[in-house]
Amino acid sequence: MASSHILSKSTFLKGLQCDKHLYLYKNNKELLDPLSEMQQAIFSRGTDVGILAQQLFPGGIDAAPPSPTKFDESIKLTEELIKKGEQIIYEASFMFEQVLAAADIVVKEQDGWKIYEVKSSTAVNEVHINDAAVQYWIVSNLGYKVKDISIVHINNQYVRKGELDLNSLFNIESVLKFVLEKQKFVADEVARQKRVLNKKSIPKVDIGMHCTDPYPCGFIGYCWKHIPENSVFDISGMHLKKKFELYEKGIIKLSDITSDVGINKNQQLQIQGVLTNKTIIDKEAIKEFLSTISYPMYFVDFESFQPPVPLYENSKPYQQIPFQYSVHYKKSPDSELHHCEFIAEPDTDPRIPFIENLLKVLGNKGDIIVYNKSFEITRLKEIQRDLPKYAKQIEKLFDRVIDLMLPFQKRYYYLPEMKGSYSIKYVLPALVPELSYDNMAIADGGTASLAYESLLTLDDFIKINEIKKQLLEYCKLDTLAMVRILERLEKVY
Ligand code: SF4
Repeated sequence: MASSHILSKSTFLKGLQCDKHLYLYKNNKELLDPLSEMQQAIFSRGTDVGILAQQLFPGGIDAAPPSPTKFDESIKLTEELIKKGEQIIYEASFMFEQVLAAADIVVKEQDGWKIYEVKSSTAVNEVHINDAAVQYWIVSNLGYKVKDISIVHINNQYVRKGELDLNSLFNIESVLKFVLEKQKFVADEVARQKRVLNKKSIPKVDIGMHCTDPYPCGFIGYCWKHIPENSVFDISGMHLKKKFELYEKGIIKLSDITSDVGINKNQQLQIQGVLTNKTIIDKEAIKEFLSTISYPMYFVDFESFQPPVPLYENSKPYQQIPFQYSVHYKKSPDSELHHCEFIAEPDTDPRIPFIENLLKVLGNKGDIIVYNKSFEITRLKEIQRDLPKYAKQIEKLFDRVIDLMLPFQKRYYYLPEMKGSYSIKYVLPALVPELSYDNMAIADGGTASLAYESLLTLDDFIKINEIKKQLLEYCKLDTLAMVRILERLEKVY
């Protein structure tokens, strides 16, 4: 028997974001955009943190449903456990007026229940309060006395020393005061959302800021079909609010833009590039930039991942942990190009072998060419802070770092194909179309980070080796891209 709920906590939150989102989610799931690997990883990260937080309240009984469609079994089990006098229940499910909610942890005290909602974020936000408000509305209306309701979230100030200290890793923040203030709002909103779901057709809602706020909606592919290529939404560096102001005035295509709409120099450049195929090559500025670089050159790129729970000594939640580098080396303009690379074994603190290997490879002299130097420099400074043993050697690297992004950021070189961006992901295909991130299993830093994180829990050697190979290929392309981009700059004059 399937649970007969009309709304759940998560659909309620969708309904707060957009009526159409709520309606489509309940009636037309087939129109949902496919979940990206990144989104899937974020969901499973939330689950892992939730299971860890249960240890703050040990000895509880799990009432989670056997499958996502069998919430009726979870509701029944929760009721039975409460009747039996269980003090701590994980994933307890409740339903009131056909609105379903599962509470991560409920704890019985002498004078009532305490509810804990676990979030993998580092602060409480409005969505969490709305989530807790519906939870409270359901449980209290069922006749249970709710003494307190709290959000359990990650404390980003925690620095791991030795064993994981769960009491320091998590912050528990009562949101009871805000939740009580929202009870009438929840009751009214539940009634309103039920009326939306009773409609015979999809609510008419135009696209807007709500499509991404507070979360990116899963129906973008369906609702945004009318937005053409080269639209105002492609303008680089423009706030989304401003883009919607233009959209609402009927200014949708880049060719609709007139000079009086308030766009900056770079945005004008992007628009002109698309409309007139305009290219910029400032030979003098490029020459001056190139005069700051000399051989031998090391083209360097790092990859890092951000585990929500600190896995290593002297690291914080969500700290960027470098685990991989690629280096292309050229001794002189005409010498052969050499490549070396490193990826840490997932069962050790990657920072130690990473920095030891890197320091050996980079030696004492030669320019270190990176793309967007703030990333590499920040990672190195973090290693200086966390592993002071390497601080002096790392310090000597900083003066050698050159940022290859600069000529593109400053628009010394601009092609329309860069679409207003100076990210290497746009600059490379524009300048060196024969090299491409297309068809790569891992094609961006976010996916690389999640791929490495997945290695921590995998035990299938074939899969582990396949992912490592994909990571190495991706990072290698990043540094080869820099070599080829520099060659293009050198050919300018
Ligand atoms: S894409 Fe925007 S308009 Fe469409 S359902 Fe989602 S939030 Fe609503």
